[in-house]
Formats: sequence, structure tokens, C-alpha cells
Amino acid sequence: LYVDSPLGEGQAVGLDHERAHFLRHVLRLDKGDVVAVFNGQDGEWLAAIDGFGKGWCSLTVTAQRRLQAAGPDLWLLFAPIKRGRIDFVAEKASELGVSRLWPVFTRRTDPNRVNTDRLRANAIEAAEQSERLTVPEMADPLPLDKALAGWPAERTLYLCAEAGNVRPIAEAVRARPRGPAAFLIGPEGGFAQSELDEICKLPFVVPVGLGPRILRADTAVVAALACWQALAGD
Ligand code: SAM
Repeated sequence: LYVDSPLGEGQAVGLDHERAHFLRHVLRLDKGDVVAVFNGQDGEWLAAIDGFGKGWCSLTVTAQRRLQAAGPDLWLLFAPIKRGRIDFVAEKASELGVSRLWPVFTRRTDPNRVNTDRLRANAIEAAEQSERLTVPEMADPLPLDKALAGWPAERTLYLCAEAGNVRPIAEAVRARPRGPAAFLIGPEGGFAQSELDEICKLPFVVPVGLGPRILRADTAVVAALACWQALAGD
């Protein structure tokens, strides 16, 4: 269970309405039962339920179960797509270890608004179920050109494109430069050609292909991240 408070032996932790409801009515836990909690920084701890009240639950942290471990340093930049599909993207990217989720608006992005609170909630739930010890950071949505203007030069950006001068993903990842990485997936309508040309000129960009078929944006996210996990080993 993800909690937004410091963890250490004897620490008291309060849970909000939603989490209290989950423990009491979904998992059917009671006073004295023990749950595993993490906060993204202090590893995983066991915590005993002290009691439930109206819309709250209090826990006392007892013992550490796992030390904090760093996950992959891998960002995902993606153009917002329809509700349902974008929730799927947040969930699967979290399961596949992404450290930062970053919605970016491209020229053909539709819709051009995104509910980052809902995406963060999906990512946290997926982190819990996949037993990660971190949750992905949810970056503020930005137009793609602004996101790329402040890009850290040492982070390789794998631009996923279904056509053009691309390297197969496996070849590009095997030959990858040292340092952190990111993937960029376009919107359902694809990137505009002029946009692709501009992105490809950037020195940290490596255009990659995910195979011979055109994938939906949400499928492309899963395919790219699964390849990364298999090849990079994290
Ligand atoms: N341009 C296409 C069109 O309108 O027919 C569709 C774009 S596709 C649905 C959405 C995004 O998924 C693309 O911008 C790209 O980032 C990624 N994508 C889909 N298939 C891909 C492939 N075979 N290789 C690499 N990226 C792919």
C-alpha cells in the first residue's frame, strides 16, 4: 500500500477515506491485522492496523520488510489519448517500471487536456500491485517543443515512429549510449512530418521502430517498454 508519510519503526500513519475503505471493505481487514506499506523512499515496512474510524484508518509501523531499491531511470513521454486508453498507458507504464510519466502535446494531439490526478492514481495502484517500491513521478503536461527545449543532454530519447529512417528498437537499445533514457510515443493521428523532421535533428534523439505493423498508441507504449525491459534488464 502506498502511503504519503515517512516510514520507520513506531511511526504512526493515517490513511484517507479511500484507503481506509479499501482495507476495511475490500480486503476485509480489521484492527490488529498487518499490511505492507511503502512511500517511495524508505523501503517497504509492515504496519499494524490500530483502528478504523469514520473515513479514516490509523496504522503503526512495526518492522522493515525490504530496503529501498532504485528502479530504472526511464521516462515516458506520450501524447494524451482518449480516457480509458490513457488510463491503460499510466497503469502499464507503471507496471513496466517507468520513473516519470510525462504527457506532451504534439501538433495532432487530441484531446488537449489531461487529468493528471487520475493518471497518478492509476500509476500508484499499478505500482502497488506490481510491488514496486517507487511510484512514477507525474510531470506537468507541456507542449512537446517546450519539453524538448529543456531536455537534459545525457538522456537518450527514443522516438518511436512507424515509418521513416528508424532503427529496429532491439538494435538501438543494444547499442545504447550510457546514461538515462526516455521513450516518446505519438498521438493516434501520428506525428506531423515537419514535427518528426525537427525532433530527429536533436542530438539526443534516436528514432526507433517497433516492427512492421502500425500499433495503436497505447499498444506502442507497452511494446516499447517491454522491449526495453527485456533488453536493458531493468
Ligand atoms: N501515423 C499513423 C496513422 O495515422 O496511421 C498512426 C500513429 S500510431 C497509431 C501512434 C503512435 O504509436 C505513433 O506516433 C508512434 O509513436 C507509435 N507507433 C505505432 N506503431 C509503431 C511502430 N510500428 N513503430 C514505432 N512506433 C510506432
